[in-house]
Amino acid sequence: MGMNIAIDGPAGAGKSTIAKMVAQRLHFIYVDTGAMYRTIALSLLRSGTDCEDERALSEALEQMDIRIGYENGTQQMLLNGENVTGLIRTEQVSQMASISSAKPIVREKLMDLQRTLARENDVLMDGRDIGTRILPDAQVKIFLTASVQARAQRRFKEMQEKGIPCTLEEIQSDIEERDYRDMHRDTAPLVQAEDAVLVDTSDMTIDEVTQEIVRLVEQKRSGM
Ligand code: C5P
Repeated sequence: MGMNIAIDGPAGAGKSTIAKMVAQRLHFIYVDTGAMYRTIALSLLRSGTDCEDERALSEALEQMDIRIGYENGTQQMLLNGENVTGLIRTEQVSQMASISSAKPIVREKLMDLQRTLARENDVLMDGRDIGTRILPDAQVKIFLTASVQARAQRRFKEMQEKGIPCTLEEIQSDIEERDYRDMHRDTAPLVQAEDAVLVDTSDMTIDEVTQEIVRLVEQKRSGM
């Protein structure tokens, strides 16, 4: 079995940026589970599936082949063989991912894929329920968070850089809506695992957070 690092936290806490950097430093494979939920969401949007209709949802999921690949070390999402990596970062997909991922049947579809990757490799996996449900035995667990304001500011800056029109207020209310849904759903709600280390990134730079996580992993390794 490989070494497993689980990073969970709310939208916009910097999970993927930090996780990528830590994985590179430690030569781990980075697995972005949010991208998997986003790929399912994209497919549901394309087919116009109503998530509240259990039969339709189940049939839609049966038609979906979700795989991940790597190109120059960067995770790629494949939906029935089509590379959809560039299509899953829109607000519409974010909201649909947050709605559909609350359905147990959607979570079940991805569980084996996530666990198999972790069994076969040294992985750093980020998401919402990695430390609590997917990899409860992960050697290092981090709960990465930041204030809503700090998270909204970061996302806003990112959107501006990409030239996507939006306002700070819109971004903040989207984040609050997603936080609420992710934390209050019945299935796999976002909570800090008991044995996870809390890292609040509101006033930390990316480098500081990366250093801190690498330090925690190295500390763990030296005691193993
Ligand atoms: O991490 P990211 O923002 O890309 O995830 C998109 C959505 O997918 C989240 O808002 C959350 O609802 C869902 N998700 C999840 N469990 C995970 C990863 C993401 O429910 N492990």
